Amino acid sequence: MRILVTGGAGFIGSHLCDALIARGDEVVCADNLCTGRVENIAHLLDRREFSFAQLDVSAELEVPGPFDAVAHLASPASPPHYLRLPLETLAVGSKGTENALRVAHEHSARFVLASTSEIYGDPAMHPQQESYWGNVNPIGPRSVYDEAKRFAEALTSAWRRSCAVNTGIVRIFNTYGPRMSAADGRIVTNFITQALTGEPLTVYGDGSQTRSFCYVEDLVSGILMMLDGTEPGPLNLGNPEEFTVAGFANLVLELTGSGSDIEFRPLPVDDPTRRCPDISSAMRVLGWHPTTSTEQGVRRTIDWFRSRPHEIAGLREPQLSSGVSPVR
Ligand code: UDP
Repeated sequence: MRILVTGGAGFIGSHLCDALIARGDEVVCADNLCTGRVENIAHLLDRREFSFAQLDVSAELEVPGPFDAVAHLASPASPPHYLRLPLETLAVGSKGTENALRVAHEHSARFVLASTSEIYGDPAMHPQQESYWGNVNPIGPRSVYDEAKRFAEALTSAWRRSCAVNTGIVRIFNTYGPRMSAADGRIVTNFITQALTGEPLTVYGDGSQTRSFCYVEDLVSGILMMLDGTEPGPLNLGNPEEFTVAGFANLVLELTGSGSDIEFRPLPVDDPTRRCPDISSAMRVLGWHPTTSTEQGVRRTIDWFRSRPHEIAGLREPQLSSGVSPVR
């Protein structure tokens, strides 16, 4: 297969490129590097089956075909990143998704949209099933991401209905693993880098909000199954093992053996109180479920950061705590 991966230099995108190349596919990776990094794909650049186009998919998506599939992952995804890039995030969810759908249509290719658990907002249903329509503040700071992805789902569904594009939607829950940027401000990277440097772990709010963490290789195997099939979705992809944020801080302290303290900081505006995927649809339709326990995956991620002290050395205190947006 020949596959276009938008956002292919990002954290998840680069792992998807790796998996596609490993199974013998040809990959065109399109990324404007606004949050993606060349170092994520550096090992692929001299592969004959891999090519990289540095471009903004929201502006233009002129890439020579043919394509059998388009995986549309391009978007800032970490709260500090999309809060810093609000207009770009809305643009890539709307214009960027349209451009990617157009490429899929032109080439009669399968199209898979990387949507998000954020479309559920602060969910009234728990765990979240795909049938739940969500509870999103349309004008809050997070709306630039949540509503962009909701619009992207609507657009994808409309192209499926109106133009018979073979589309699929996956809703990705919190994912972590090697190649996350230490400066992305997310819980996994903040806690691991703080624990490894002896800084206090910054727990936002009282730490009772919950998240579920999926190891990136598990997630990528689900995306591959979606790319290879014809299932429209949406399907939740995530790990149903649920942690409170405070509980996750303790897990990181235990697995790193760190003596760091825990420091409580204000809760970002509209921070969802709980999030846990119901993955019964993905299990039934794709036969997919995560196989890496959170403990195993976090250990591997800690080892990865330990082997890259330069990644952490570039951090200063404001970056380590940059996840704090305006407070309630
Ligand atoms: N969080 C935290 N400390 C941090 C970073 C994040 O307590 O240093 C919390 C954040 O408030 C949220 C959860 O961890 O409740 C997950 O945040 P993240 O930014 O990783 O992703 P989100 O799920 O909010 O998109």
